[in-house]
Amino acid sequence: MTAPILRSLAELRDLTATWKRAGECIGVVPTMGALHAGHLSLAQAARTGCDRVIVTIFVNPKQFNNPEDLENYPRTEHEDAEKLAPLGIDAIYVPGPNEVYPSGFATNVSVSGLTDVMEGEFRPGHFDGVATVVAKLFLQTSADRAYFGQKDYQQLMLVTRMARDLDIPTEVIGCPTVREPSGLAMSSRNLRLSDEGLIKAAQLNPIMQDVVQALAQGGSFAPLAKQARDRLEQAGFTGIEYFDLRCATSLEALDTPTRPARMLVAAWMEGVRLIDNIEVPKV
Ligand code: AMP
Repeated sequence: MTAPILRSLAELRDLTATWKRAGECIGVVPTMGALHAGHLSLAQAARTGCDRVIVTIFVNPKQFNNPEDLENYPRTEHEDAEKLAPLGIDAIYVPGPNEVYPSGFATNVSVSGLTDVMEGEFRPGHFDGVATVVAKLFLQTSADRAYFGQKDYQQLMLVTRMARDLDIPTEVIGCPTVREPSGLAMSSRNLRLSDEGLIKAAQLNPIMQDVVQALAQGGSFAPLAKQARDRLEQAGFTGIEYFDLRCATSLEALDTPTRPARMLVAAWMEGVRLIDNIEVPKV
Protein backbone atom coordinates (compact mmCIF):
# COMPACT_ATOMS: atom_id res chain seq x y z
CA MET A 1 0.00 0.00 0.00
CA THR A 2 1.28 3.51 -0.85
CA ALA A 3 2.24 5.47 2.26
CA PRO A 4 0.35 8.72 2.94
CA ILE A 5 1.99 11.81 1.48
CA LEU A 6 2.15 14.67 3.96
CA ARG A 7 2.78 18.16 2.64
CA SER A 8 2.51 20.29 5.76
CA LEU A 9 4.44 20.41 9.00
CA ALA A 10 1.17 20.51 10.94
CA GLU A 11 0.06 17.15 9.49
CA LEU A 12 3.50 15.67 10.14
CA ARG A 13 3.52 16.84 13.76
CA ASP A 14 0.04 15.38 14.40
CA LEU A 15 1.27 12.00 13.25
CA THR A 16 4.63 12.00 15.03
CA ALA A 17 3.00 13.19 18.28
CA THR A 18 0.81 10.06 18.25
CA TRP A 19 3.80 7.83 17.63
CA LYS A 20 5.84 9.53 20.37
CA ARG A 21 3.00 9.12 22.88
CA ALA A 22 2.99 5.40 22.09
CA GLY A 23 6.75 5.29 22.81
CA GLU A 24 7.60 4.37 19.21
CA CYS A 25 11.02 4.87 17.66
CA ILE A 26 10.92 7.09 14.55
CA GLY A 27 13.38 6.70 11.69
CA VAL A 28 13.81 9.29 8.94
CA VAL A 29 15.38 8.95 5.49
CA PRO A 30 16.03 12.40 4.00
CA THR A 31 16.13 12.41 0.19
CA MET A 32 15.68 14.70 -2.78
CA GLY A 33 13.54 12.12 -4.58
CA ALA A 34 14.18 10.39 -7.93
CA LEU A 35 14.52 7.33 -5.78
CA HIS A 36 16.69 4.37 -6.76
CA ALA A 37 17.82 1.20 -5.01
CA GLY A 38 20.35 3.20 -2.94
CA HIS A 39 17.59 5.26 -1.34
CA LEU A 40 15.40 2.18 -0.94
CA SER A 41 18.21 0.42 0.96
CA LEU A 42 18.15 3.28 3.49
CA ALA A 43 14.37 3.00 3.83
CA GLN A 44 14.77 -0.76 4.30
CA ALA A 45 17.41 -0.23 7.03
CA ALA A 46 15.07 2.23 8.75
CA ARG A 47 12.18 -0.25 8.44
CA THR A 48 14.29 -2.89 10.17
CA GLY A 49 15.65 -0.57 12.88
CA CYS A 50 12.62 1.56 13.81
CA ASP A 51 8.91 1.28 14.62
CA ARG A 52 7.95 4.11 12.27
CA VAL A 53 9.62 5.31 9.09
CA ILE A 54 9.30 8.66 7.34
CA VAL A 55 10.95 9.22 3.96
CA THR A 56 11.31 12.91 3.16
CA ILE A 57 11.46 14.23 -0.40
CA PHE A 58 12.60 17.82 -0.73
CA VAL A 59 14.75 19.23 -3.54
CA ASN A 60 16.50 21.73 -1.31
CA PRO A 61 17.26 24.91 -3.26
CA LYS A 62 19.76 26.06 -0.61
CA GLN A 63 22.18 23.22 -1.33
CA PHE A 64 22.44 23.81 -5.08
CA ASN A 65 25.29 26.13 -5.91
CA ASN A 66 24.42 25.81 -9.62
CA PRO A 67 20.92 27.00 -10.72
CA GLU A 68 21.01 24.77 -13.82
CA ASP A 69 21.66 21.68 -11.66
CA LEU A 70 18.64 22.64 -9.50
CA GLU A 71 16.45 23.09 -12.56
CA ASN A 72 17.57 19.81 -14.17
CA TYR A 73 17.27 17.78 -10.98
CA PRO A 74 14.78 14.94 -11.70
CA ARG A 75 11.40 15.19 -9.96
CA THR A 76 9.45 11.91 -9.96
CA GLU A 77 7.16 11.99 -6.92
CA HIS A 78 4.53 9.57 -8.23
CA GLU A 79 7.10 6.91 -9.19
CA ASP A 80 8.93 7.49 -5.88
CA ALA A 81 5.76 6.73 -3.89
CA GLU A 82 5.24 3.55 -5.94
CA LYS A 83 8.81 2.39 -5.33
CA LEU A 84 8.38 2.89 -1.59
CA ALA A 85 5.02 1.07 -1.44
CA PRO A 86 6.39 -2.50 -1.01
CA LEU A 87 8.59 -1.40 1.91
CA GLY A 88 5.65 -0.57 4.17
CA ILE A 89 6.94 2.79 5.37
CA ASP A 90 4.60 4.97 7.41
CA ALA A 91 4.72 8.38 5.71
CA ILE A 92 6.29 10.33 2.88
CA TYR A 93 6.92 13.94 3.83
CA VAL A 94 7.03 16.22 0.80
CA PRO A 95 7.11 19.72 2.26
CA GLY A 96 6.50 22.75 0.08
CA PRO A 97 9.29 25.36 0.18
CA ASN A 98 7.30 27.44 2.71
CA GLU A 99 7.17 24.60 5.21
CA VAL A 100 10.98 24.52 5.24
CA TYR A 101 11.87 28.15 4.56
CA PRO A 102 8.91 30.29 5.65
CA SER A 103 8.96 33.95 4.74
CA GLY A 104 11.65 35.76 6.76
CA PHE A 105 13.73 32.61 7.29
CA ALA A 106 17.14 33.91 8.39
CA THR A 107 19.04 31.06 10.02
CA ASN A 108 22.04 29.27 8.58
CA VAL A 109 23.62 26.14 10.04
CA SER A 110 27.30 25.95 9.17
CA VAL A 111 29.79 23.28 10.21
CA SER A 112 33.40 24.41 9.98
CA GLY A 113 36.51 22.32 9.33
CA LEU A 114 35.01 19.20 7.76
CA THR A 115 33.42 21.35 5.07
CA ASP A 116 36.51 23.28 3.95
CA VAL A 117 37.66 20.62 1.47
CA MET A 118 36.38 18.52 -1.45
CA GLU A 119 32.63 19.15 -1.90
CA GLY A 120 32.93 22.23 0.31
CA GLU A 121 35.68 23.64 -1.88
CA PHE A 122 34.01 22.92 -5.22
CA ARG A 123 30.42 23.63 -4.24
CA PRO A 124 30.45 26.86 -2.24
CA GLY A 125 27.46 27.12 0.10
CA HIS A 126 26.40 23.51 -0.56
CA PHE A 127 27.11 22.18 2.91
CA ASP A 128 25.48 25.11 4.70
CA GLY A 129 22.37 24.28 2.67
CA VAL A 130 22.65 20.61 3.64
CA ALA A 131 23.30 21.26 7.34
CA THR A 132 20.43 23.76 7.54
CA VAL A 133 17.84 21.54 5.86
CA VAL A 134 18.92 18.38 7.69
CA ALA A 135 18.76 20.16 11.07
CA LYS A 136 15.24 21.29 10.16
CA LEU A 137 14.16 17.83 8.97
CA PHE A 138 15.51 16.19 12.14
CA LEU A 139 13.55 18.65 14.27
CA GLN A 140 10.41 18.60 12.12
CA THR A 141 10.20 14.80 12.09
CA SER A 142 11.34 14.31 15.74
CA ALA A 143 13.35 11.38 14.42
CA ASP A 144 15.22 9.12 16.84
CA ARG A 145 17.35 7.78 13.99
CA ALA A 146 18.31 9.09 10.58
CA TYR A 147 19.69 7.00 7.73
CA PHE A 148 22.25 8.39 5.30
CA GLY A 149 24.28 6.81 2.50
CA GLN A 150 28.05 6.48 2.59
CA LYS A 151 27.80 7.44 -1.08
CA ASP A 152 27.88 11.05 0.17
CA TYR A 153 30.60 10.36 2.70
CA GLN A 154 31.56 13.93 3.54
CA GLN A 155 27.87 14.75 4.00
CA LEU A 156 27.53 11.79 6.38
CA MET A 157 30.42 13.13 8.48
CA LEU A 158 28.92 16.61 8.42
CA VAL A 159 25.41 15.66 9.55
CA THR A 160 26.82 13.43 12.30
CA ARG A 161 28.91 16.36 13.61
CA MET A 162 26.02 18.82 13.26
CA ALA A 163 23.58 16.65 15.25
CA ARG A 164 26.18 16.13 17.99
CA ASP A 165 27.20 19.78 18.16
CA LEU A 166 23.60 21.01 18.37
CA ASP A 167 22.46 18.28 20.82
CA ILE A 168 19.79 17.15 18.39
CA PRO A 169 18.79 13.74 19.75
CA THR A 170 18.79 12.01 16.35
CA GLU A 171 21.28 9.20 15.90
CA VAL A 172 22.87 9.30 12.44
CA ILE A 173 23.37 5.91 10.82
CA GLY A 174 25.58 5.47 7.73
CA CYS A 175 24.63 2.76 5.21
CA PRO A 176 26.76 1.22 2.44
CA THR A 177 26.75 2.57 -1.12
CA VAL A 178 24.51 0.60 -3.49
CA ARG A 179 26.05 0.11 -6.94
CA GLU A 180 24.95 -0.91 -10.40
CA PRO A 181 26.20 -4.36 -11.45
CA SER A 182 28.91 -2.42 -13.36
CA GLY A 183 30.22 -0.97 -10.08
CA LEU A 184 28.90 2.53 -10.79
CA ALA A 185 27.48 4.06 -7.62
CA MET A 186 23.75 4.60 -8.02
CA SER A 187 22.82 8.26 -8.24
CA SER A 188 19.76 10.21 -9.35
CA ARG A 189 22.16 12.11 -11.64
CA ASN A 190 22.98 8.90 -13.57
CA LEU A 191 19.61 9.39 -15.27
CA ARG A 192 21.23 12.18 -17.25
CA LEU A 193 24.01 9.97 -18.71
CA SER A 194 23.73 8.38 -22.17
CA ASP A 195 24.20 4.61 -22.53
CA GLU A 196 27.76 5.28 -23.62
CA GLY A 197 28.32 7.65 -20.70
CA LEU A 198 27.11 4.97 -18.28
CA ILE A 199 29.67 2.51 -19.67
CA LYS A 200 32.48 5.06 -19.42
CA ALA A 201 31.43 6.16 -15.94
CA ALA A 202 31.59 2.55 -14.76
CA GLN A 203 35.38 2.72 -15.05
CA LEU A 204 35.60 5.04 -12.06
CA ASN A 205 35.16 2.36 -9.43
CA PRO A 206 37.69 -0.19 -10.81
CA ILE A 207 40.28 2.60 -11.15
CA MET A 208 39.73 3.50 -7.49
CA GLN A 209 39.94 -0.18 -6.49
CA ASP A 210 43.31 -0.45 -8.27
CA VAL A 211 44.66 2.43 -6.20
CA VAL A 212 43.41 0.78 -3.00
CA GLN A 213 45.27 -2.40 -3.93
CA ALA A 214 48.48 -0.51 -4.72
CA LEU A 215 48.23 1.30 -1.38
CA ALA A 216 47.85 -2.06 0.39
CA GLN A 217 51.15 -3.09 -1.20
CA GLY A 218 52.88 -0.05 0.33
CA GLY A 219 52.51 2.51 -2.48
CA SER A 220 52.25 6.18 -1.65
CA PHE A 221 49.18 8.06 -2.78
CA ALA A 222 50.51 11.03 -4.78
CA PRO A 223 51.97 9.08 -7.77
CA LEU A 224 49.08 6.60 -7.70
CA ALA A 225 46.58 9.44 -7.80
CA LYS A 226 48.38 11.00 -10.76
CA GLN A 227 48.17 7.71 -12.70
CA ALA A 228 44.54 7.29 -11.73
CA ARG A 229 43.66 10.81 -12.92
CA ASP A 230 45.32 10.05 -16.28
CA ARG A 231 43.31 6.84 -16.57
CA LEU A 232 40.09 8.68 -15.75
CA GLU A 233 40.79 11.23 -18.46
CA GLN A 234 41.47 8.44 -20.95
CA ALA A 235 38.16 6.88 -19.93
CA GLY A 236 36.37 10.11 -20.91
CA PHE A 237 36.06 11.93 -17.57
CA THR A 238 36.63 15.65 -17.76
CA GLY A 239 37.33 18.07 -14.90
CA ILE A 240 38.47 15.75 -12.15
CA GLU A 241 37.81 18.06 -9.22
CA TYR A 242 39.45 15.97 -6.54
CA PHE A 243 40.90 12.51 -6.13
CA ASP A 244 41.87 12.38 -2.46
CA LEU A 245 42.98 9.99 0.25
CA ARG A 246 41.72 11.14 3.63
CA CYS A 247 41.38 10.01 7.23
CA ALA A 248 37.98 8.27 7.50
CA THR A 249 36.92 10.39 10.48
CA SER A 250 38.69 13.76 10.41
CA LEU A 251 38.94 13.92 6.56
CA GLU A 252 42.54 15.10 6.95
CA ALA A 253 44.60 14.43 3.78
CA LEU A 254 46.89 11.36 3.95
CA ASP A 255 49.68 10.09 1.72
CA THR A 256 49.57 6.56 3.10
CA PRO A 257 46.65 4.98 4.93
CA THR A 258 48.31 4.87 8.34
CA ARG A 259 44.80 5.23 9.80
CA PRO A 260 41.46 3.89 8.54
CA ALA A 261 40.99 5.98 5.41
CA ARG A 262 38.67 6.81 2.55
CA MET A 263 39.41 7.57 -1.08
CA LEU A 264 37.03 10.18 -2.48
CA VAL A 265 36.55 11.41 -6.03
CA ALA A 266 34.49 13.97 -7.94
CA ALA A 267 34.66 14.09 -11.73
CA TRP A 268 32.48 15.09 -14.65
CA MET A 269 31.09 12.84 -17.38
CA GLU A 270 28.91 14.23 -20.19
CA GLY A 271 28.25 17.38 -18.17
CA VAL A 272 27.12 15.38 -15.13
CA ARG A 273 29.06 15.68 -11.89
CA LEU A 274 29.66 12.25 -10.35
CA ILE A 275 31.08 11.47 -6.91
CA ASP A 276 32.22 8.22 -5.36
CA ASN A 277 34.27 7.03 -2.40
CA ILE A 278 35.54 3.75 -1.03
CA GLU A 279 37.01 2.44 2.16
CA VAL A 280 40.82 2.16 2.32
CA PRO A 281 42.05 -0.23 4.99
CA LYS A 282 44.85 0.88 7.29
CA VAL A 283 48.26 -0.56 6.36
P1 AMP B 1 19.92 12.36 -2.42
O1 AMP B 1 18.49 12.16 -2.73
O2 AMP B 1 20.82 12.10 -3.56
O3 AMP B 1 20.19 13.65 -1.71
O4 AMP B 1 20.32 11.23 -1.39
C1 AMP B 1 19.52 10.95 -0.26
C2 AMP B 1 20.24 9.93 0.56
O5 AMP B 1 20.45 8.76 -0.21
C3 AMP B 1 21.63 10.40 1.04
O6 AMP B 1 21.83 9.95 2.37
C4 AMP B 1 22.55 9.70 0.08
O7 AMP B 1 23.83 9.47 0.61
C5 AMP B 1 21.81 8.39 -0.13
N1 AMP B 1 22.24 7.73 -1.35
C6 AMP B 1 22.33 8.28 -2.60
N2 AMP B 1 22.84 7.38 -3.47
C7 AMP B 1 23.10 6.25 -2.76
C8 AMP B 1 23.64 4.97 -3.07
N3 AMP B 1 24.03 4.68 -4.30
N4 AMP B 1 23.76 4.06 -2.09
C9 AMP B 1 23.36 4.35 -0.83
N5 AMP B 1 22.84 5.54 -0.46
C10 AMP B 1 22.70 6.47 -1.40
